[in-house]
Amino acid sequence: MTDSRMHLDAMTFMVSSTLITAFACLGLLGAWLQFNRMPALLWWAGAHGTNAIGLGILVSGLTLQLPFLNAIGGLLLTLAPAMIWAGVQRFSGRNVSVPVFLAGMGAVLLVVVVPVELDRQKWLVSVEFGNWVVYLLLSVASLWSVREEKLYARWPLMGLLTLHAMVFLGGVYEQLSGTFDPDAPPELFTWFGMIHLDTIFYAGGTAVLLILMSKERSERQIVEAAKTDSLTGAVNRQAFFEGAERLLHRCSRDGSPYSMVMFDLDHFKTINDTQGHQAGDRILIAFANTVRNSLRPNDLFGRYGGEEFLVVLPDASIETAYVIAERVRKAFADDHRFFDGAPLNATVSAGVASIRTSSDLNDIVASVDRAMYAAKHNGRNRVERAPDSKDAAVQRGIVARIA
Ligand code: GH3
Ligand code: MG
Ligand code: MG
Repeated sequence: MTDSRMHLDAMTFMVSSTLITAFACLGLLGAWLQFNRMPALLWWAGAHGTNAIGLGILVSGLTLQLPFLNAIGGLLLTLAPAMIWAGVQRFSGRNVSVPVFLAGMGAVLLVVVVPVELDRQKWLVSVEFGNWVVYLLLSVASLWSVREEKLYARWPLMGLLTLHAMVFLGGVYEQLSGTFDPDAPPELFTWFGMIHLDTIFYAGGTAVLLILMSKERSERQIVEAAKTDSLTGAVNRQAFFEGAERLLHRCSRDGSPYSMVMFDLDHFKTINDTQGHQAGDRILIAFANTVRNSLRPNDLFGRYGGEEFLVVLPDASIETAYVIAERVRKAFADDHRFFDGAPLNATVSAGVASIRTSSDLNDIVASVDRAMYAAKHNGRNRVERAPDSKDAAVQRGIVARIA
């Protein structure tokens, strides 16, 4: 009596996990439609769909005592974790290696056809369980490798995948060591029973977390796009001033220097007029790339206006800022670009300024603007320093005293 109830419980878990996995598939399909048809979501929906069908066939096979149905279900259940891994790879911006994707299926087929005496059923189930362990742990490794993209759902997802892999590892151990009959309805308190109990949490949990993780990325991309100039990839004017203000606050608090550079492309109107607007756009993109190659991760680069750019260099003295601006100027002037076969030469003028604590952001923008115009006035394709605001005040004081 007790025994049959135990069987029923494990079977109930199997039926429940089948249904929940099917719902998880539908949820992921919905999310795929919502989040710009992100390919990873389609892989994950496919994985849970395959899992649900495989489980359904397995439940039928166990109930009807038809081992060949168990075999078909098992094969589909081998494909499911490979599809989870493929989705994670796509989400992480990595390629899906076809040999790795097919290796699990290959291992299962090998057990079926290998011409040696062995308990084929036992090894088949072991390899199928082993595939889950391997693909789930590969998925965890893939998620870990791109952890610098801050997504909160990543961590519980990695936990859930690891837990499921460990339960399957128990299943492998049980298959290889015990006298487990995989064609009988599963006992609840066996690893096999635990796999089906855990599948309920796995299917529901992974679907929710995968959707949350995709939502986090999608929302972040929208926020980033709103802050970014689409042509050059520099931050736009509003985002630049917000960032510049934040950095000024931080440098003032720490007593660190704070420098700014203004760049303005030379004779850009003439380039547009003679070589076309597209050539002009190409130059703007090339310039933005040149600047990015010269900056440190904490520097802030923004598009101020049409062909005018601003850079904030926190913790950098005016001399450091001058060296960086000069490096950009030279690299840009020396870069040999072509557009439609014609050379596309361009130069840039720059002004640099630096302030100490508690100065106003408008003051430093006015200073770099004046220094940049001095560079234009002095012949273009050059960098000019603004007199340090403190020095200028001291100088004015000296002049006043002498007068
Ligand atoms: P100067 O050396 O004194 O800076 O001369 P300039 O011709 O660069 O300056 P001016 O301000 O007269 O011209 C700026 C030009 O930049 C005018 C405008 O058409 C062009 N421009 C602004 N935004 C864009 C853009 O997104 N793409 C292209 N191709 N041109 C742009
Ligand atoms: Mg200009
Ligand atoms: Mg210009």
